[in-house]
Amino acid sequence: MKALPRRRFIRQTLSAALAAPFISTVVTRALAQAAEKKIGFALCGLGSLSTHQIAPALQHTKNCRLTGIITGTPAKAEKWKAQYNIPGRNIYSYETMAKMADNPDIDAVYVVTPNALHAEHTILAAKAGKHVLCEKPMEASSEKCQEMIDVCKAANRLLAIGYRCRFEPHNLECMRLAREKVFGDLRIIQACFDIHLDLPSGAWRFNKALSGGGALMDVGIYALQATRFITGEEPIAVSGMETKTDPVKFKEVDETVVWQAKFPSGVIADCSTSYNSSLVGGYRAVADKGWFQLDPGFYYDGNRGRRSDGEEIRYPEVDSLGEFYQFAAEMDDFAQCILGVKATRVPGEEGLRDLKILTAIYKSIRTGETVKLG
Ligand code: NAD
Repeated sequence: MKALPRRRFIRQTLSAALAAPFISTVVTRALAQAAEKKIGFALCGLGSLSTHQIAPALQHTKNCRLTGIITGTPAKAEKWKAQYNIPGRNIYSYETMAKMADNPDIDAVYVVTPNALHAEHTILAAKAGKHVLCEKPMEASSEKCQEMIDVCKAANRLLAIGYRCRFEPHNLECMRLAREKVFGDLRIIQACFDIHLDLPSGAWRFNKALSGGGALMDVGIYALQATRFITGEEPIAVSGMETKTDPVKFKEVDETVVWQAKFPSGVIADCSTSYNSSLVGGYRAVADKGWFQLDPGFYYDGNRGRRSDGEEIRYPEVDSLGEFYQFAAEMDDFAQCILGVKATRVPGEEGLRDLKILTAIYKSIRTGETVKLG
C-alpha cells in the first residue's frame, strides 16, 4: 500500500470493483463450459489396476471418457475394443504410442505400467503432446522423476501422480483436523500399510529392475504420504530397518520395513509396511489435546475413522461409487486441471519428493544410520 500512490490505488481498486461482476460472469461461464467438456483418456498398461479399477471408474467420471488404449498384448486390445467401444485407430502398442501425436481423440494418457517403466511411457506420451497422469510410485529413482518433470514442462503438458487418497473425503477430513489443530498440536503419527502379496515368483513386483523396490515403494508410500499430508511438512530425518522372513521370495526387494521420520515442528512418525503380513492400512495422529485415526484409511473403499472426542469420521456418500470413488475423483480432478479450472494438488514434484524420502529410508536401512534430508 505504501509503495502504491493513493490516487493510483483508488483508481485500481475502483476498476477492479467495476470489473468484478464481469470477471465473475466470465469465470462462472468458463467453469460451466468446462463442466460440460470431457477429456479423452488413453490407458497405458492394461493390467490389474486398469482392468478392475481405472476403466470401470472412468465410466463414473463427469469430465473424462476412455478413448484409447496402449497395450503390448493384441488379445487384450480386442477384448477392450469390444468392451469399451474403442475405435481401432485409438489402439496403440508401447512401440507405436508416439503416433498418438496425430490423434485428437486422446488428450491424456494414464500410465499404469510397472514402476520402472513410468518414465519411458510418460516421456513418450508427453512428447506426443498428451497430458500425463502417472501411477504411484512415480518411478524407481529421483533422477527418473526429475526427467519426467523436465520433459513434461518442456512439452508444456501437465503431469500428475495417482495419489488417490488425496481425493478421498476421510483423508481430507483428517487433513482438516490437523491443519485446524482441532485436537491441538500434533506430536506423533503412526501409519502403516501391510499386505500379503500373493503373486507368482516371476511377477514384476519381485523384480527390482522393474519395481525399484518392494513393500516400501508399493504400499509403504501410502503411509509416507499420510505423514506428509497430515503434518503438511517435509521430514528432516529418517531412519529405517528391514526384516526378511522369506529371503527366497523377497530376494531382490524389501519384504517388511519399519521407519521413523522427524518433521521440523517436532512431530515424529512411526511407520511400517509389509508384503508378507495381513492386511492393515491406516494411521493414527496423536496431538496434545486428543487424537484422530483412520482404520482403514488407504483402502479402495470402506475407509472410516474415529476421534478422541467419540465422534466418527465417516462419509457414507463415497459408498455410492464404492471402490471406484477415489479413482473417479482423481481423474475428474486431473481433467479439470487440463480444462484450466484448477491446479493439480498432486504434481510430478510431489512424486519426486516421495522418491527422495523413500531413497533416504533405503539408505538408512543399508547404512544403519539416520539420514538427514535437506
Ligand atoms: P499389473 O502387473 O497388473 O499390470 C501391469 C501392466 O503393465 C500389465 O498390463 C503388463 O502387461 C504391462 N507391462 C508392460 N510392460 C511390462 C513389462 N516389461 N513387464 C511387466 N508388465 C509389463 O500391475 P498393476 O497392479 O496394475 O500396477 C500397475 C501400476 O499401478 C504400478 O505402478 C502400481 O504401483 C500402480 N498401482 C496403483 C494402485 C493404486 O491404488 N493407486 C493399485 C495398484 C497398482
